[in-house]
Formats: sequence, C-alpha cells, structure tokens
Amino acid sequence: MQLPIVNHPDYVAKINDDNKFPIKKFGALAEHLLKNDVVRDFHTPKECSIETMRTSHSLKYINDIKNKTLDIKAQKKIGFPINDSVVRRSFVATGGTVLASKLALDAKLACNTAGGSHHATFDYGAGYCVFNDTAVAANYLKKKRLVKRILILDLDVHQGNGNSEIFQKDKDVCTFSMHCSSNYPAKKSKSDIDIELQDNMEDNEYLNVLNNNLKKLNQNSYDFVFYIAGVDIHHEDRLGKLKITDEGVNKRDQMVIENFYSKKIPLCGVLGGGYNKNFDKLIELHSMLHKNCASFF
Ligand SMILES: [Zn+2]
Repeated sequence: MQLPIVNHPDYVAKINDDNKFPIKKFGALAEHLLKNDVVRDFHTPKECSIETMRTSHSLKYINDIKNKTLDIKAQKKIGFPINDSVVRRSFVATGGTVLASKLALDAKLACNTAGGSHHATFDYGAGYCVFNDTAVAANYLKKKRLVKRILILDLDVHQGNGNSEIFQKDKDVCTFSMHCSSNYPAKKSKSDIDIELQDNMEDNEYLNVLNNNLKKLNQNSYDFVFYIAGVDIHHEDRLGKLKITDEGVNKRDQMVIENFYSKKIPLCGVLGGGYNKNFDKLIELHSMLHKNCASFF
C-alpha cells in the first residue's frame, strides 16, 4: 500500500502572473512527488457538491462563487479574481480535502496537494481562501457519522480564523492554532486553543512549544485530525515572520505525524500557506508533509 495522495491538475487556476500567490506550486508539487517516488498514482477528486459545501458556507456565498456574482470588494478580500478557473479550483480543491479525509479513515494517513484554506468563513472568503476545505471535510465526516471528535491542528504561520469562527459553538471540533501574533489577520478570532508566537522565533523554541502542546492535546481523545502544514513559518518566507529552518519544518511535520500515527488516530494532511522567496525551496518544504507521511507505508 502507498500513502493516498489527492491531486487534480485544475488545482493550478489561471490567474495573472502579477498575482502574489504562487499558484503554480500545486502543479510543481505534484511533479516533485511523482519524480521522487513519493507516490505512483494520485487519487483524483470531484468538485465538492453544493450539499456538502452547505455544511460550512451560506448558500448565498456558494452561489456567488459558482455564478461569479461576488462583488469586487469581496473578491479583493480573497485576493483572487473570481473567474471560471478559480471557481473550478475552489470546488475541486475542497472536494480534494473531503476525499483525502475519507481515505485517511482507512489508511490512517492521507494528504491533499492543496487545501488548508483556513481564512474562509461561513459567508465570505479572505487571504487567498475561497472555501474552507478543512471545515467542509470536518463537517462532512461528522454529518456522515464517520467520526465524532475532531482536532484541527493548524501550524500555518497565520491564525486559522475561518475555522475558529465556523466551529465556535461546536464542542466536537477542537480548533488549535499556533501562529505568529504579528502576522495576518490583524484582528484574531478565538480558537479553542490559540498559541501566539513572537516574531523571529527559531527552531528549538518553536519545537519545544509544539512538543508541550502535543502532550496537552494527547490528554484528550480525538477520532480524527486535520493537519494544516503551512510552510510559511520558514525563515525565507515572504509573509511569515518566524525563523524556522528546513530541518525545523521537517522535524515539525515528523513530530505531528508520529504523534497521532502512533495512537492510530487518522490524520488528513493539507498544505496551508507557503510564499518562499525561492520557488524550488517552496516545493521542497511543502513536500515534507507528504514524504513524512509516506515514510509510514
Ligand atoms: Zn499562512
């Protein structure tokens, strides 16, 4: 058996080259994983259905995306133009995380090659996030009664404010966000557990804080974990303000995956953010999630 990895060519939406978001990374990551024998064949997702999308988003917002009727101000908040290709990408990448979460139930580990759109909330998108794929997948698993207690472990450098808002009143979904306090969003929302880090934090301190928090999380029992493995904690990231090295990112992923795999708790890994100054480095950093998961197969 090989690690199930979900990918779709349409993850690479057509947006202008002057857009700051490195959209081509999704295609490059897929190629990198094939070339390095991390995976032989990808699982191909379908577009997330409106019914499943509605577990986490308002019908008006879903339709505004689907019909490309979202006003310019709301599009600017997202940072992508809402064109056919971005609409397609938004539905298929969300379908990708739903599929990866189902695959993780059997395989214990599964990953998407996109996902972690954690700034999108019930009725609007923000910060390069159109639909909140992890929220949709978590609500899908709950609705189908496949799991009860879910942990969303968000280690992207930015706070997972979309998830904290969507699951604010949901006692069965624990939102954990460990992020740099001076990074976006300026106004943080309230997760079940927020760990705020100071600018310029380096590997040792970061990994210690993570280790202590994993120990605390282990005192509760979860049926399922979504891991948002943003690599914008890296010292060469254009947006993140932490100073984590390649080895630090790799060690972080190892610690998280090993922690839950050893307890047989299924984990679905999604990309999260990454805006490294060096494109090849960005791909290498994102691939650490998949490589570390694959090492258990
Ligand atoms: Zn981020």
